[in-house]
Amino acid sequence: MTAPKAHDWIVKMKPYVPGKSTVAGIHHPVKLSSNESVFGPSPKALEAARASADRMMRYPDAESRALRDAIAQVHGLDAERIICGAGSDDILTLLIHSFAGPGDEVIFSQYGFMVYPVQTDAVGATGIAVPNKDWGADIDGILAAVTERTKLIFIDNPNNPTGAYVRWDEIERLHAALPENVLLVLDAAYAECVTAADYDAGARLVERAENVVMVRTFSKMYALAGLRVGWGYFPPALADMINRVRMPFNVCLTGQDAAIAAVHDQAHLKASVDFNAEWRDWETAALTALGLDVVPSETNFLLVGFPTESPFTALECNEFLLKNGYIVRALGVLPNHLRISIGSEQQNRGVVALITEFMNGSPEERGSND
Ligand SMILES: *Cc1c(COP(=O)(O)O)cnc(C)c1O
Repeated sequence: MTAPKAHDWIVKMKPYVPGKSTVAGIHHPVKLSSNESVFGPSPKALEAARASADRMMRYPDAESRALRDAIAQVHGLDAERIICGAGSDDILTLLIHSFAGPGDEVIFSQYGFMVYPVQTDAVGATGIAVPNKDWGADIDGILAAVTERTKLIFIDNPNNPTGAYVRWDEIERLHAALPENVLLVLDAAYAECVTAADYDAGARLVERAENVVMVRTFSKMYALAGLRVGWGYFPPALADMINRVRMPFNVCLTGQDAAIAAVHDQAHLKASVDFNAEWRDWETAALTALGLDVVPSETNFLLVGFPTESPFTALECNEFLLKNGYIVRALGVLPNHLRISIGSEQQNRGVVALITEFMNGSPEERGSND
């Protein structure tokens, strides 16, 4: 007898390890590890979510029609080109599953969003990780990596986990140099937080090209991560493909209703963006003043570089923060850095106070004071 066996390439995959959300012995740890927005969602979204509970015996609208219309109206887009998903992970995954398979190549940045390599492995395609340039995507490096096998290129712009962005003229230059059969995916999960004037999320390029998709989410600045709502903006022919393979009821009833209310409350979004920018600046300045290497961020998190000598390393700082109830993100690919999400005022002040303490003394000295 032989047990059921998954595809060879799935058997070879390493299981995904999500970030920590609990610390042994600490009741309410401060979680600054998943780039959630503690500013919180629009009160109108909360109200819509609560009201939707009365209808939970019903299937949601399979087409997310009202949500697509709301997004189209607010962003000045064509609703026919929008597809909503269970988070933008859903859209990113559908793109990889629809356009790549064994023998194909998918290009992304070495330091970039985990979903691209994981889902590339899941379809048996080959992931090509291009080293970053100035912490963002390296456009020339990506162009040099394109082969006849390339099916998709993912640019998380701004980048997660570095927080850096690529200027719009560079994205245009990349697109202009690509073969028409290569699909360029612009993952603009953090578009709402960007303050740089030379940034663009890419909607107008989607409208004039046949091979560009822009992907957006309600998880970050709209603060609806738990409801799983994202969307993509597509050329019509590509939208047709994704609509064939997506699950018909992929966005839940509550998610649709809350996201509609959230996207209509642009005043709340602006308040959230302003709050984020203010604390991002404050925390960048405070950590830089400690001699740490903070990557300039256009997102709602900071990538912070630590000294490589003990006792001041990133891993030692991570242990110290955990012991004090603060969860930030240690990254296997960037062992000298920690990724720290912007939190509430109290949380931001708290994490900076702890890192200040860490940088001002050795763990030994601290231990002897216990
Ligand atoms: C957070 C994030 C997403 C969004 O994920 P959702 O599935 O929409 O919650 C997508 N891309 C990047 C780069 C991210 O950091």
